[in-house]
Amino acid sequence: MDLSHGHTGSRRSWAEPYKIKMVEHLRMTTHEERVRAMAEAGFNTFLLPSSEVYIDLLTDSGTSAMSDRQWAGIMLGDEAYAGSRNYFHLEDAVHSHYGYKHLIPTHQGRGAEHLLSQICIKSGDVVPGNMYFTTTKHHQELAGGTFRDVIIDEAHDPQSTFPFKGNVCLQKLSRLIEEVGAERIPYLSLETNVNMAGGQPCSLENIRETCALCHEHGIAVFLDATRAVENAYFIKHRESGYEDKTISEILLEVCSYTDGCTMSAKKDSLVNIGGFLALNDDHLAEEARNLVVVYEGLHTYGGMAGRDMEAMAIGIGESVQYDHIHARIGQVEYLGNRLIEAGVPIVQPIGGHGIFLDAARFLPDIPREQFPAQALSAALYVESGVRAMERGAVSVGRDHETGENIYPKLELVRLTIPRRVYTQAHMDVVVESIVELHREPERVVGLEMTYEPKHLRFFQARFAPVVGAEVLRRSGQSEPAACG
Ligand SMILES: *Cc1c(COP(=O)(O)O)cnc(C)c1O
Repeated sequence: MDLSHGHTGSRRSWAEPYKIKMVEHLRMTTHEERVRAMAEAGFNTFLLPSSEVYIDLLTDSGTSAMSDRQWAGIMLGDEAYAGSRNYFHLEDAVHSHYGYKHLIPTHQGRGAEHLLSQICIKSGDVVPGNMYFTTTKHHQELAGGTFRDVIIDEAHDPQSTFPFKGNVCLQKLSRLIEEVGAERIPYLSLETNVNMAGGQPCSLENIRETCALCHEHGIAVFLDATRAVENAYFIKHRESGYEDKTISEILLEVCSYTDGCTMSAKKDSLVNIGGFLALNDDHLAEEARNLVVVYEGLHTYGGMAGRDMEAMAIGIGESVQYDHIHARIGQVEYLGNRLIEAGVPIVQPIGGHGIFLDAARFLPDIPREQFPAQALSAALYVESGVRAMERGAVSVGRDHETGENIYPKLELVRLTIPRRVYTQAHMDVVVESIVELHREPERVVGLEMTYEPKHLRFFQARFAPVVGAEVLRRSGQSEPAACG
């Protein structure tokens, strides 16, 4: 029996460690219906009603299936305004698995980012991070800070197969400290399994060295722990010396080098809503508790119902089980490997929470000004009812000084896999749909932006096809979505 990977038996398959006890019906739509729905949504998959979607890979945020135990926890909600017993369960779970001293619950991850940014950042400060995340950067800027990317160059290269593309580049970080001075850097925001790089992990060695360098200069390190469990899985499989450690042990070690974390529990922690800020420093924790009552709620619920905190406490315990995380990442790898076999350009290595299509290579004939990733996600929906999202120029937004669009190296379509929700057969439908578009890229038409919101524009922006009014050149067909 091979116990070295921490699982209870010798099976190698990533097969799900659960069986299904309740199902939710999926509606099949026709091609015609999807053409209409996409036009009404302004070619932005965020604006589609979910009732028009067959397989929803928009995000893995808050879309997980909860376990029977978590649903049982919902019934144990203690809806006291103050000092709910579920808060104390959550505090125990965060303490045992993340290790930090103080817990400040928030309604979701950005609530924690808001609090951290407001208590730590002064106007004119610089906040380095291993690639930006939309809401994280936005809150840093609202607090008067400027984000600076210190991720290694490999992260910006969709073809590099470096195993730890989430790593911080220590030279870039040192140079930044020299350039602006440590006193202008309140903290480094260290993201685990870097979302915008394609779900790419950091090594423990890099985390250790990054934290040491920051602490040497009196700079704090706050983890974006949203996908730290997925990162721990990659450390176990890719970093020597960690193969025999449990996911729990690795997670605790990652957190131990840092001063606190922001967390969107809607990802790793297997709940539909929730988040937290966790801190070791007593004084900072007090400031965060003073502020949480203004924006989120009392410091023992932070915008969550008691039942949500209970489900989260149970979800955190389930998230670090080896069988769970093996099946979760195994499913993502299954989808990615089938696409690679079919010659579809995707970001490699395959990341933890989704597959990222390299839209720039997928659609070399669509200029960057016509948002190839936005166009591809719109076409994929029309083709098959699969909902993906853009992670490219639309998501990055404009340069604050020049007002010009930024065209990042990575122009990606993200297919994010909800946890414990879809089956292998659903993954096969996704592969078939993408492979068809890849064979006939002329079906995808470039877009122009017709409405641009002020903040986080990718959520609500609207688009129109640059040429003609058709999304697809294929004449109206009305086969069910499942046929791809
Ligand atoms: C989702 C996410 C956030 C924001 O969390 P919300 O719960 O959506 O507010 C922050 N950082 C990362 C890496 C995320 O994936």
